[in-house]
Amino acid sequence: MTSKRLYYQNAYTTHFEANIIERVRNNNGQTAVVLDQTYFYPTSGGQPFDTGTINNIPVTDVTIREKDEALLHWLDTTSLWDDKIAGQLNWPRRFDHMQQHTGQHILSQAFIQIAQAETIGFHLSDNSLTIDLNTSQLSPSQVEAAEFLANQIIWQNRPIHIRSVTLEQAQKLALRKLPPVRQGTLRLIEIEKFDLTACGGTHVSQTGAVGIIKIVKLERQNNQLRVEFACGQRALHDYRLKNSLVNQLTAELTTGTDDLLPSVLRTREELKDARRRLKKQQEQLLYFEADTLLKKGKMVGNTAVITRVFTTEEIDPGQLRVLGSHLSQSGQVIALLGLAGQKSQLLFCRSQDAPGEMNQLIKSALQVLGSAAGGGSAMMAQGGGPGTDKERVQQAIDKAERLLLGQIR
Ligand SMILES: [Zn+2]
Repeated sequence: MTSKRLYYQNAYTTHFEANIIERVRNNNGQTAVVLDQTYFYPTSGGQPFDTGTINNIPVTDVTIREKDEALLHWLDTTSLWDDKIAGQLNWPRRFDHMQQHTGQHILSQAFIQIAQAETIGFHLSDNSLTIDLNTSQLSPSQVEAAEFLANQIIWQNRPIHIRSVTLEQAQKLALRKLPPVRQGTLRLIEIEKFDLTACGGTHVSQTGAVGIIKIVKLERQNNQLRVEFACGQRALHDYRLKNSLVNQLTAELTTGTDDLLPSVLRTREELKDARRRLKKQQEQLLYFEADTLLKKGKMVGNTAVITRVFTTEEIDPGQLRVLGSHLSQSGQVIALLGLAGQKSQLLFCRSQDAPGEMNQLIKSALQVLGSAAGGGSAMMAQGGGPGTDKERVQQAIDKAERLLLGQIR
C-alpha cells in the first residue's frame, strides 16, 4: 500500500490529516513514516522536497522508496506514537518551488517558439534554477525575445490545467516532453493554449502567480546552453541585491548608473598607469638607496661591507632582492641585508671578486631568528623566519658580520 499523492490534484493545500501505515528506520537510526495520503512533495523530477511538520515534528526530507514508490517522510525524532496525524506544509518554500517550476515550463516553451531550442535538463535547488538547452547557438536578441515572450504569458494570466491521460492518449497529443514510458496514466500540465507537457511537480494555478521571469546568466557547455534564471520572489530578491549593489557603486564612484561601467574602466586604467609609474620610481629609489649604502660601507681591504635592516613597510622581499643585486654589481662588495616585520628575512650577497661564503654565514644568522629555512650559494643566499622586530634582525646581521670580518681580516 502506498500513499495517495494529493498534491497531484491540489498544490495549494497546506494542512491535512492522514494515517500512518508504516514506520521505517534507516541504518543511521532516522525515522520515517509512510502515510495513506499526503500533500508532501518528494524530491523528484528536478524539484526538491517539501518541508513542514507532522504532529508538530519537523519533516527533514521526503524521498521515494524505490521498490514500491512509497513516500518516506523523514522526521526529526525517533518516536511518533499516534497513527492519526496532522500534516502542515512549509508554504513559503512550497510556493517558491511552484513559482520557479511553473516559470520553467513557460520559459522552456518560449525557447521552442523563438528559437526551436529544446530543454533537455532542469535543475531547481534552494539557490539555483537552470535549464539546459540543446543548442549553444543562440543570439542575445533570441534570448531576450524568449524572455519577453515568457513574461507576456505571465502577464496574460493564463489558466493552468492538470489532466490525466493514458499513455495511448498522450502519444496522440503534441506534448513538449514525454517521460520514460511507464504503465498507467500520465499527469499532464497545460498552460492554456501555450504549453502541454507531462510533469509530476507542483505548479501555480494561473501564470500570473509566477510574477516575472528574469534570465540572469548564460553558460555555454559543448553543444548546450545552460540558462540560469529567477522567477517571482527570487527575481525580486535578485533585483534588490543588484539594485543595492549599483546604488552603492554609484555613490562610491560619485557617478550615475549609465556612467558606472566607463567610470570603472577608467579607474582601472588609471590604477594600472599609477602602478607602472610607482614601479619605475621604486626602481629609481632602489638605485639611490644602493648608492647611499655603498658610500656608508665599511672598507675591509678592498671590499666594502654593507649591512642594513629594513622594515616590511619600507621595502618588500622582491625589492630587497633587487637592492642586493644592485649592490653586488657595484664593485667589490658584500651586502648583508635584513627585513623585519610580519615575517623576517635575510639576504646575503657579494660580488664575484669579494670573499666569503654567503650560504655558511646565513645559517649562523638564521639561528638568531629561530629559523633553519634558508640557503643558497657562496655568492648569494637567503632565508626567512617568523615575524620579529628590527633589533632582532639587526642582531642576526651583526653576528654574520662578526663572523665575516673574522674570516676575511
Ligand atoms: Zn512541472
